[in-house]
Amino acid sequence: MKKELRALAADLAAYLKTVDEDTIPALHLAKNRARAPETVSKHAAQASAGSVAPPPLESPPLSAKKSLAEAMTELLDEVRACRKCPLGHARLKTVFGVGSLEAEVVFIGEGPGYEEDRRGEPFVGRSGKLLDKILETVLGLSRGQVYIANIVKCHPMKDPEHPHSMGNDRPPTPEEISACRPYLEKQLALIKPRCVVTLGAVAAKVILGETRGISLLRGKWYDYPRGLFGSQALKVLPTYHPAALLRNPNLKRDTWQDMKMLKAFLEGAV
Ligand code: SF4
Ligand code: URA
Repeated sequence: MKKELRALAADLAAYLKTVDEDTIPALHLAKNRARAPETVSKHAAQASAGSVAPPPLESPPLSAKKSLAEAMTELLDEVRACRKCPLGHARLKTVFGVGSLEAEVVFIGEGPGYEEDRRGEPFVGRSGKLLDKILETVLGLSRGQVYIANIVKCHPMKDPEHPHSMGNDRPPTPEEISACRPYLEKQLALIKPRCVVTLGAVAAKVILGETRGISLLRGKWYDYPRGLFGSQALKVLPTYHPAALLRNPNLKRDTWQDMKMLKAFLEGAV
């Protein structure tokens, strides 16, 4: 029995190494998933402090978690090396995605802007700060408890010769979107969230294969069209892009309503 516990502790230590936030900045494994407060990290902390407790029964097997982190790191490496579309040549950094690999909800934006390109992390500019605020005030969640990604992983620029100039953003082209799409699909297939929230018209149209505008699409639940996980449903809730709220604060009221729908869904009331 003792031997088994020691092996478990070693396993946990090895696992923690693979998910260290400092060594894998783009993965940022959150310590908690909303519906599963007990995490491997806590047990690993106990293990290293000498009091080893087995993980709770409802936890996924350790090996599954390990391979999830590994698979995501492999995908991250693939994206960092990607030059499948022209955006790969002008970008400063790839912007893979950030948050919990166990997130129940994945937020999907359009594509990185200048600040994201500079830092390699999605939604860290002005609209990102607003997104953080919405997450915290309406949902009571930090960005580490959800997952945030974009339709394209590199910064679409009007003038690719000047990646450091401001106001150089543009929407991604259909070619760029289809070149990059498989990465997002793989991220979703690995995380297996319960729902995704699309931010803005581009993400909503791409994910739902829709042509209608965001004001018609938002505020309703849809089924994710691709049947990602076999029979397991993935729901989609489109809402406005935080940048739109900065331009037009009148949209905040609708966005708040959408976030309340999300909250009810995550709390199991839907
Ligand atoms: Fe590759 Fe996507 Fe970047 Fe294009 S936008 S180079 S497909 S990672
Ligand atoms: N807008 C987006 O759509 N994505 C980001 O990451 C930042 C701004």
